[in-house]
Amino acid sequence: MQSIQSSEALQSQCLSWRAEGLRVGFVPTMGFLHAGHLSLMELARAQCDKLVVSIYVNPLQFGPNEDLDRYPRNASGDAAKCLAVGTDVLFLPEALYPPGHVTRVTVNGLTDRLCGAKRPGHFEGVTTVVARLFGLVLPHVAVFGEKDYQQLVVLRRMTRDLALPIEIVGAPLVRDQDGLALSSRNAFLSPEQRERALSLHRALAAMDTQAAAGERDIAALIETGHKCLNVDSLDYLEVLGAQDLEPLRVLDRPARAFVAAKLGATRLIDNWALSPLV
Ligand code: AMP
Repeated sequence: MQSIQSSEALQSQCLSWRAEGLRVGFVPTMGFLHAGHLSLMELARAQCDKLVVSIYVNPLQFGPNEDLDRYPRNASGDAAKCLAVGTDVLFLPEALYPPGHVTRVTVNGLTDRLCGAKRPGHFEGVTTVVARLFGLVLPHVAVFGEKDYQQLVVLRRMTRDLALPIEIVGAPLVRDQDGLALSSRNAFLSPEQRERALSLHRALAAMDTQAAAGERDIAALIETGHKCLNVDSLDYLEVLGAQDLEPLRVLDRPARAFVAAKLGATRLIDNWALSPLV
């Protein structure tokens, strides 16, 4: 595995692979890798000849009062995990944006709700960094997790709207044995907070059970979810259309339940596909 720090060196390596006719796969991350990240890498690995993984904690996607400064890091552990899954290049940029970088990429509409509403500027930071990384790696295929479902939908749209010849693959959300969605931020939770964090997926699962039993009224499903939650503050609990992320009153098409909440200072998100209609 090659470790690359410079944008120019990364792009020239990827261009030469392309020239050889090799298929390049890409998994962007912010590091502190866990089994969720590794599942994306394995999925990408199976679909490409050369796998690029990036680790970059992107300041553009953090708000002023968020956890950029304390975001967890584990450089040596991450490198060992990337090596183990067969990564060809680990991209660890020191400075990703060139001096004088002023370009921003914005996806409208799909970013109006959920984390887009609660974290102003977040998705513009995500789309801007991913667009630049796409320009450097020029991947044939890029894999993103359904853990960040809104992000996946937004990046699919960006890729389509900008006519980028990149296949975007969504990877299923990976959970711990007890159901907690794996997240780098879980490292911040005390045992007591972690226990209460289980209420996120329990709320979503209860909503799904109720939907599978025939409940079609979204307000009733949300009420069920609220009863399960045991968090310090709730950012949102919503059910939206799975493709367009538009609010629903009645469960009459494929939908997804979304939750974001804080345990102490740690903000967690989770989501769940509601059972197909019978
Ligand atoms: P992050 O390092 O949090 O920016 O995440 C990098 C990529 O890993 C994103 O595409 C995430 O959606 C994905 N990811 C993070 N956690 C999980 C998980 N528990 N299951 C599946 N994918 C995940």
